[in-house]
This record gives sequence, C-alpha cells and structure tokens, in this order.
Amino acid sequence: MTPKPVKVTANDLTSLEKNLKNKSDDSIGNYLFNGYRIQVSKYNQSATERIRAFAKRRREQGLCVACGTKVKRTNPKTGQPYKYCDFHHDLALQKRKSLKAPAATKAKKKK
Ligand SMILES: [Zn+2]
Repeated sequence: MTPKPVKVTANDLTSLEKNLKNKSDDSIGNYLFNGYRIQVSKYNQSATERIRAFAKRRREQGLCVACGTKVKRTNPKTGQPYKYCDFHHDLALQKRKSLKAPAATKAKKKK
C-alpha cells in the first residue's frame, strides 16, 4: 500500500511546511521534489488512526473510501459525494440488507 509520490514544486513545499507547522494532517503524503522523495506520515500512529485518517482524506477528496475511485453520485440530503463509489455503495447497501435479513428469516421460520 505504498502510494505514488506526488510531484511538488518549491511553492508546494512552502505550503507543506506550513501544514506541518500547523500540525495539520493535510501534510501527510508522499512527495517528489527534484528527484527526492519526501514522505510525511504520523509517527507512532495506531493502525486504526491511520485507517481513519486515510478514509477521511479520501472522503475529503470525494474518492471512494474502499477503492479510491472518484465518487460520482452525491447524497441528495447533504449534497456531499457519497462515501463509496457506485460499486462499493451498492455493496454496502447489500451488506446492510443481509445483516437485516437473518432476523427477518428467523421471524418467518417461527410461523
Ligand atoms: Zn469503491
């Protein structure tokens, strides 16, 4: 799960530095500057924290939390892009349905 470094300019480095000084998670990422790779990640971050931050970043960029593709559909209630792409959105819906299903079938069996 090593992301491709993003090519940055001297200007980008300045904003990166600002983010770092502000302790903003926006600075986290992989960067390529003049042939140097700069990797910014949180030290001693737990796996859960890392996953949460990763999902948060994807969500902010309007990308599917599960696979990282651009989310096209937006939630009509909030106007925000959905958490998942079409595929994973449907998958999540199915999962929710299948979680409800066993209780429903149990109730039917009782009859
Ligand atoms: Zn997806």
